[in-house]
This record gives sequence, C-alpha cells and structure tokens, in this order.
Amino acid sequence: MNALEVRDLRKVYRNDVVALRGVNLEVAEGDFFALLGPNGAGKSTLIGIVSSLVNATSGEARVFGISVQKERSRAMAQIGLVPQEVNFNQFEKPFDIVVNQAGYYGVPRRIARERAEHYLKKLSLWDKAFGPSRQLSGGMKRRLMIARAMVHEPKLLILDEPTAGVDIEIRRSMWKFISEINEAGTTVILTTHYLEEAENLCRNVAIIDHGGIIENTSVKALLGKL
Ligand code: ADP
Ligand code: ADP
Repeated sequence: MNALEVRDLRKVYRNDVVALRGVNLEVAEGDFFALLGPNGAGKSTLIGIVSSLVNATSGEARVFGISVQKERSRAMAQIGLVPQEVNFNQFEKPFDIVVNQAGYYGVPRRIARERAEHYLKKLSLWDKAFGPSRQLSGGMKRRLMIARAMVHEPKLLILDEPTAGVDIEIRRSMWKFISEINEAGTTVILTTHYLEEAENLCRNVAIIDHGGIIENTSVKALLGKL
C-alpha cells in the first residue's frame, strides 16, 4: 500500500499562476521522503492539496488509498501536518493546544492528555507546557506544531520546511525526533530547499521545479549523480 499517490495533479491559482503542472508521485508506506526544490517550486501547494487545505484544479491525491477529494475527513485522519507558518492560537498554553487538537479527531480526553505529555517531553517542551505559547522561540513553536501533529498518531506525518530558519543545534534535535517517528513506523514526507536536509534524513527524494517533478529517486542514487 502506498502512503501517498498523486495523479496528474494541477493547480492554477486565481491569479493564473500555474503552481503544479501535472504532478505524479508515489510514496511507499514507511518511507522517509523529501520533496526538494527551490522557493516557489510548488512544494507547499502540493502538500496543501494532499492535506486538503488547497483545492486542486484537476487530478487526484490518495492517502493510504483514500481520496482526499472524495473522502476529505477520512483522508485527513491519516495525516499529521506541520505547516510552515505558526497557526496556533498564541494565547493558549502549549499543553492545551496539543490536547484540543486531539479533540478534533475524537481522541478521548484522558488519552489526549497522556499523549500531549509524552510528545511535549519528547520535544523538550514539557517545562514550557503550561506557560504562554506566544513567548516560545521560533524553534519551540515549530516543535509544538510537531507535537500537535502527532497527537492523533497519524500514519503519515507531513512537514513543510520544518527546520527553515532554525539554528543548527535545534535543527539536529528536530532531525533526531523526526527520524525516531519514522523508525516507529510513521511514513514521513518533508519539504525542504536544503539538499543537506534531504541527504541527512531521507531515503527517497523527488525534486520539484516550476511545478513539475524533474527527478524521483533514492537519496543514494541522487548523491551518486552529483
Ligand atoms: P485558492 O485557489 O486555493 O482558493 P486563492 O487564489 O484564492 O487560492 O488564494 C488564497 C490566498 O492566498 C488569497 O488570500 C491570496 O491573496 C493569497 N495569495 C495570493 N498570491 C499569493 C502568493 N503568490 N503566495 C502566497 N499567497 C498568495
Ligand atoms: P514552494 O512551497 O515550493 O515555495 P508554493 O507552492 O508556495 O512553492 O508556490 C508555487 C507558486 O504558486 C509560486 O509561484 C507562488 O507564488 C504561487 N502561489 C502560492 N500560493 C498562492 C496563492 N495562494 N495564490 C496565488 N499564487 C500562489
């Protein structure tokens, strides 16, 4: 079973920008996959469609065989999304942000609390869990969004530029945590414009440029070509 299948996906925004021009992509269950490309290539648009935040102009995305277009909420239940921009309520406490997210997926409150504690500890945020989230550093906010994305234990974790603008030490600890999630069986897809990130972390990679996939191979094979 593929974690993700994308068929002939096109996106033309209202301003006539063609962000995706017929993308085809498969990501196997258990994979650690990088979508690598420069700014403006179409990475955020692609994962926006997969996580049903953006409507495709045409084509289809399937998550574990479930059509994102036809069965939105079933597909979304499979996915944990870590967006690029901070999108939580900064007046809520980190613990509440994580627990409340679990509510949207029908996770019982007691289990949600246990998981929030588990993931906030794993991401070195437990000592901040009951303080104001607006005072967290940029790297901490990013980690909080990872904890929030994991609370319903999705089969597919998607991270949009997870370490952009994060300093090298925090970046290393985030890499370690994301690797552990993958080793525990969760399929991981991340977007990045750092070759180094794809190289250090991921098994397979697709290179996207101007809305098209120009290479789709293993990281090992890609490095052999460079
Ligand atoms: P959709 O086709 O998904 O409905 P829209 O074309 O309506 O998307 O744009 C959604 C939002 O993104 C709008 O508020 C728009 O102003 C904003 N937006 C427009 N151009 C850009 C851009 N180049 N990059 C990011 N956001 C943009
Ligand atoms: P990336 O994530 O690789 O930086 P994006 O998917 O954000 O690329 O953007 C792809 C193209 O679509 C860019 O030209 C961008 O300006 C444009 N774009 C992105 N979002 C919108 C939007 N909401 N409305 C109009 N154009 C957009």
